[in-house]
Amino acid sequence: MRYEGDIYRPPSEAYSYILQITIGCAHNKCTFCGSFKAKKFRIRKIEEVYEDLEMARKYYRRIEKIFLADGDALVLKNSYLMDVLTRIEELFPECQRVGIYGRATDILRKTDEELLELKAHGMGIIYMGVESGNPEILKRINKGETREEMIAAVRKAENLGIETSLTFLSGIGGREMWRENAIDTGTIISEMEPTYASFLTLMLVPGTPLHDDWKSGKFELLTPEEVLKEAELMLENIHVTKKCVFRSNHASNYVSLKGDLPDDRERMIAQLKVAQKHSEMWKDERFRML
Ligand code: SF4
Repeated sequence: MRYEGDIYRPPSEAYSYILQITIGCAHNKCTFCGSFKAKKFRIRKIEEVYEDLEMARKYYRRIEKIFLADGDALVLKNSYLMDVLTRIEELFPECQRVGIYGRATDILRKTDEELLELKAHGMGIIYMGVESGNPEILKRINKGETREEMIAAVRKAENLGIETSLTFLSGIGGREMWRENAIDTGTIISEMEPTYASFLTLMLVPGTPLHDDWKSGKFELLTPEEVLKEAELMLENIHVTKKCVFRSNHASNYVSLKGDLPDDRERMIAQLKVAQKHSEMWKDERFRML
């Protein structure tokens, strides 16, 4: 119930109780991300976390979903996470799912047994920002993780029955690498087979290195039409064998898309083709936001 700084959560956790167990992001080096620049990473004292949970129990009659913030709380050791999950089970027996932001390296560092222990105690979904499937773009944005690591991490979690919800960034390769971004993002989704995949559109955040590159002309933003073309090529390169819920309906997107892959792929591609010819379908810049 007490929060430090701005709090970020995935759109699908809009009705969840947000519990801040870390402050900031342990990586905090992605060139496009300004979310946690004002925070120095630290782990909250477990006593404070317990106090927050007790306060929430007094305040809310029913809590069905809990989201563990901040940026990559899965970086925490299992012993700490298990203390939190056990307290949640004691205080909120009605809670059906606990979600968390994590990085590929966090998943890979944990053993199967550790991940299964978290799952058995309520952790049902890991949200991960993949951003792009292209190795060069991942290096340029300083993601600190490789394409191979991200594929291995998502497959590991999904194979253990933990859902993954991944976000990708349209335009993150700039005009120079839009084609590579589209193709490699499509193929990485095919190889990962996540439960959820969302496509956001890059918005530059003042004060970040990528914003500086844009100001100096080193990085060029895509036009709305190019963003739609990139999304079309990305979808054409997705070939999943199990259902993946696909969303591109974030506030940052020019055109809203929703569907299940692989079934709705052709319909969404057709929607994008039409939208490229009709600028009146595009969201006005004034209404786009992160
Ligand atoms: S994008 Fe994610 S991993 Fe990268 S700095 Fe931001 S919160 Fe941390």
